Amino acid sequence: MNVHDSEKILGVLEPEGFLQTNNPRSADLIIFNTCSIRQKAEQKFYSELGRIKSYKKLNPRLKIAVAGCIAQQEGKNIFKRAPHVDFVFGPQNISALKHFVADGYVPVAIEENPLIAIEDLPARRSAGISAWVTIMYGCNNFCSYCVVPYTRGRERSRPSEHIVAEVSKIAEEGYREITLLGQNVNSYESDVDFPGLLRKLDRVGGIERIRFVTSHPKDLSTALINAIKELPKICEHIHLPLQSGSTAILKMMSRRYSFEDYIEKVAALRAKIPDISITSDIIAGFPGETDEDHRLTLKALREIEFDGTFAFKFSPRPGTKAAKMQGNLTEEMKSERLYEILVLQDTITEKKNNALVGAIQEVLIEGPSENGNGNLTGRTRTNKIVDIWADDIIKGALVDVEIIKGRRHSLEGKLVG
Ligand code: SAH
Ligand code: SF4
Repeated sequence: MNVHDSEKILGVLEPEGFLQTNNPRSADLIIFNTCSIRQKAEQKFYSELGRIKSYKKLNPRLKIAVAGCIAQQEGKNIFKRAPHVDFVFGPQNISALKHFVADGYVPVAIEENPLIAIEDLPARRSAGISAWVTIMYGCNNFCSYCVVPYTRGRERSRPSEHIVAEVSKIAEEGYREITLLGQNVNSYESDVDFPGLLRKLDRVGGIERIRFVTSHPKDLSTALINAIKELPKICEHIHLPLQSGSTAILKMMSRRYSFEDYIEKVAALRAKIPDISITSDIIAGFPGETDEDHRLTLKALREIEFDGTFAFKFSPRPGTKAAKMQGNLTEEMKSERLYEILVLQDTITEKKNNALVGAIQEVLIEGPSENGNGNLTGRTRTNKIVDIWADDIIKGALVDVEIIKGRRHSLEGKLVG
C-alpha cells in the first residue's frame, strides 16, 4: 500500500517537472513516505531523517517532506522534533504536495487532515507487468492493536467505474496483472459489492490475473468464494490474517471472529477451491497472551498449514486500546514466541512447496532471476515464486512450468512443451 502511495506521490510530482533520482545527495526534494504500523518502522524513519539533515548543508535548495502514516499521526510535532523538515502531509493529502511545490515551498503541516477524501490520483508506476490499484481507503474495524483507522480514516470505496477505467488504462499500458488494494477489500461497497467488482474487472481485456489484499476473515462471504472459483482471472490465493489461534486473544484484539469461525472459512475455501493458497498474518505476544494461548497459535499453524505467513511481535501503538492493556510481555518473551512461529511456519512452507514437485503450474514471467536457480523468475497463480532456465521468453509471458524442486521461499521449475 505504501509503495503504491509512493507511486501516487510521483504521479503528482512528475507533471510539475520533477525527475526521480537514485542519489539523495543530488536531490532538490526528498520525501519520506512513512509507516507507523509498528514501532520499529517509526524508529528507522527518525534515524534516517536525522541522518539526512546534513544534506541541507551540501545543497541549500534541498526541501524535505514527510508523508505517510507517521506524518498523519504526528502532524506539526514533526517540525519540533526535526526543524529541518519543510512539509508534512498524510496519506489522504497527497495532492496537497502539488500546492507545496507550486507555491514556492511554503513550510506547512497539514493539521486537520481530512480523513474522508476519495481522490483519483494518477500513479507513476514503474514499467512492469504487475500494478497495484486502490479500490478503497481506510478501515472501520478498529482492531485493538492497530493504528490504521486513526491514520487512514474511515472506509471509503472508489466508484467501480473509476476502478474499471483505471484498470483498462493499465491494461493498455501493457500490464498483465493487477493487485487490488484495501485494508478490508471484503467490505468494498459502491454500486456493487466486492464480488460484483471482481466480476466487472474480470471482463477487462489484456489483464490476465487479478489479485487482492487484504481480506478480513469476518467478512469473507460465500459470494467471494464463488467469484474466486468461477472467474478465470481471479487468482487462487487469499491473504487472510488470522492474528492468533486463541479465541480469547482474538476477542481482546476485537477481531470479531473465533478460531472456530476462522477454521470454517478455511474449510469453505478449500472445499470449493482445493488448490487455493492461503497466507496469513500472526501477532506474537499480544498483552495477556499466556503460554497456552501461544500454544494454540502454534497448533493453529500446524492444523491449517498456511502457504506462508508474516509474523510480527506485538508493538504498542499510540492511541490504540491495546497500548493501554495490562499484561505486556517482555521483549524477550515476544521474541521467543515469534521465533517459534517463524521456525514452525518455515517447515510448513517448505513441506507445501515440496508437495508441488511434479505439478504443472501456469507462471507469469516477471523478469530476470537473480538467485542462481534460473535465468527468469515468475509467479504461479497461487503467488509462489518460481525460477526457471529458459531462452526466448519475455517478461509478461504466461507459460506452463513443471515444478522440479521446492525450496523454503521459492520453487524451481522447467518449461513444459
Ligand atoms: N488490514 C489488514 C492488515 C493491516 S496491517 C488486516 O486486517 O488484516 C498488516 C498486519 O500488521 C496485520 O495483519 C497485523 O498482523 C500487523 N499489525 C498491525 N498492527 C500491529 C501491531 N500494533 N503490532 C504488531 N503487529 C501489528
Ligand atoms: Fe488494522 Fe486491518 Fe484491523 Fe483495520 S482490519 S484495524 S487495518 S488490522
